[in-house]
Amino acid sequence: MKNDLLGKLQHALDGKDAEGTVQEVLRILPADRLVLASSLSVEDQVLTHLLCALHPQPRIFTLDTGRLFPETYATMERTMQRYGFRYEILAPETRELEVMLRAHGPNLFYRSVELRKLCCAVRKIHPLRRVLATADAWLCGLRREQSVTRRSAQRVEWDAAFGLCKINPLIDWTEAQVGEYIRRNRIPYNPLHDQGYPSIGCAPCTQAVQPGDSLRAGRWWWENPEHRECGLHVQGGKIVGDRRP
Ligand code: SF4
Repeated sequence: MKNDLLGKLQHALDGKDAEGTVQEVLRILPADRLVLASSLSVEDQVLTHLLCALHPQPRIFTLDTGRLFPETYATMERTMQRYGFRYEILAPETRELEVMLRAHGPNLFYRSVELRKLCCAVRKIHPLRRVLATADAWLCGLRREQSVTRRSAQRVEWDAAFGLCKINPLIDWTEAQVGEYIRRNRIPYNPLHDQGYPSIGCAPCTQAVQPGDSLRAGRWWWENPEHRECGLHVQGGKIVGDRRP
């Protein structure tokens, strides 16, 4: 399946813009085998807008870690109202979560990188694995401009970590383009972006940044930069983490 589908998508998506990319993917794949991963970032909001315009029943999932900001949940509600769909909300497995919490307490992530990664695995990676097992491709909001580790990302690539195709329709968009598209189309977005949070994840692991700081400076700020990943995206063998603006 890998080579057939990957080759077909690479050929079909060559030279396509964001909308053309989503259109072509929907032509090639049954809509129920395509999922959009939304962290409610501005990029994911753009993709939600595009996908909802092109298909009446898109599969859009989000990982409810149980520790998100109230503003993020409010953005979920506003987005569903605006576009008339229901997110596939993925929650951690109750038993696995209880075992972790009883062993390590609710704020384990501040104590060590290992415990923080355990929390990310239980609350994010394991639910992500469950949903990606039901799809042949996932749409993501990665942009090359976001970080050095994303510069080699392609419009379509094989995601070896999760065993399916990964499609990045906004791969060559700039931050200014995303903002302009959001404003022009009046797309709902997380109000925390206007309060100094360029990248928004779980509340205990995200803080506002200062002008001039990197976009991800407010994520897991107590760790060394090389550890600040949660395992959602892998580029060239390196995990590059998620982005929840
Ligand atoms: S970002 Fe923090 S609270 Fe969220 S899953 Fe990872 S460690 Fe846990």
